[in-house]
Amino acid sequence: MSQQDRHTHLECSESFLRAAMERLELEEEHQFLLRTPYRVVQIELPLRLSDGSLSVFTGVRVQHNNSRGPFKGGLRYHPELDPAHARGLAAVMTWKTALANLPLGGGKGGINCDPRKLGNGELEQLTKQFTQRMGDIIGPEVDVAAPDVGTGPREMAWIYDAYARIHGDNPAVVTGKPLELGGSPGRTEATGRGVAMITAWAAKANGKTLDDATVAIQGFGNVGANVAHFLAERGASIVAVSDVDGGLANEKGLDVAKLKQRVDDGEIDSVAEATNLGEAKDNDALLAEDVDILIPAALGGAIHGGNVDSIRAGMIVEAANLPVTCDADPVLAERGVTVVPDLLANSGGVIVSYLEWVQNREGYRWSVEQVNGELEKRLGHAWESVRERAESEDVPYRRAAYLIAVERVDEATALRGFQ
Ligand code: NAD
Repeated sequence: MSQQDRHTHLECSESFLRAAMERLELEEEHQFLLRTPYRVVQIELPLRLSDGSLSVFTGVRVQHNNSRGPFKGGLRYHPELDPAHARGLAAVMTWKTALANLPLGGGKGGINCDPRKLGNGELEQLTKQFTQRMGDIIGPEVDVAAPDVGTGPREMAWIYDAYARIHGDNPAVVTGKPLELGGSPGRTEATGRGVAMITAWAAKANGKTLDDATVAIQGFGNVGANVAHFLAERGASIVAVSDVDGGLANEKGLDVAKLKQRVDDGEIDSVAEATNLGEAKDNDALLAEDVDILIPAALGGAIHGGNVDSIRAGMIVEAANLPVTCDADPVLAERGVTVVPDLLANSGGVIVSYLEWVQNREGYRWSVEQVNGELEKRLGHAWESVRERAESEDVPYRRAAYLIAVERVDEATALRGFQ
């Protein structure tokens, strides 16, 4: 199956939503409102490269729904990012913030660049130009961005600075900032920490424990590396990991701390180079590993109609957004594979982003213990609500999560009125 034949993010996010809306028997006009984004903005970003040539990039921000509060969602720097891609991801954010019961909506955006091919100065210029040109439609009470694929605290600091030059100092305009600039303790590792908590709870609910469970993780960036760290800490054996350049496997369990250290120190560009810790592994083969738990933590569409039959794991925890396509999802359900959906599994990131926003608005800094405690409490509530709904309606976790989230957003939209 070629890349073109695969279901897109937008098709899949709409398909998951449609199934929930039909089950909830929502009126036609409500369905239309929940599907349609509030605003889609595309901007031109010309950049003079260090070699003197001119490149023109495209910046996108999709604001999907703000019935429950300001739009909230990441900024992605990736060559394949376009408005349709961002629309699918923005919708997932709406359902994710609603499921976590945060007073926020959903958005997503970014730039269609490959950050690995740009220098620091070029990236700073691009990020600040993006912020300046989006200046009128973002803000602490309007739309609050955060890190996603290809971005991190450094880019968030540049956004904070560019926004402050026009609108005055206000750190709540963006979350995932460095600690020195009002970032929250615990935010960088929050998504990975949350994925590990959810994995433990889901394993227990399915009569398993993490002790010695074998795990394969696709993606070793912010999320993947932190999931590996927190799952290893809970006794799981991480037998394979990968990044865009290749994979690494060790059937006795990888030394995650050493591997993460080498990547963080910039000693190696890819996990596949750490052959003193394991043997290099083909990237696609990682998904087909015979493991207890498979964690896609890279890009969307990793598990699709063309490779779903090769999946051997008994449980899939979606650390990435939309990693299982809408045609692969029913095949997995049919085979009895437990899938913990993105809007629940990776919501630790947006929960701590929310806590950062709250701290910035209070002008006060919480301790890491307070942040982690609040994360566990909020994630625990979301997990329990999904588990109970899945049991009471006899549906998979994804359907249960969508039913809860869509119901909440629909209610808020109806209460506010459409005029
Ligand atoms: P990142 O840029 O830090 O890391 C992405 C990783 O994926 C890198 O290791 C990259 O090499 C790898 N990768 C890319 N293509 C791959 C491929 N084909 N095969 C294997 N590996 C590949 O990004 P991140 O912040 O870790 O985000 C990862 C996923 O988690 C994304 O889907 C993102 O939307 C989602 N997510 C992130 C956050 C967050 O807080 N950063 C929160 C929620 C969800």
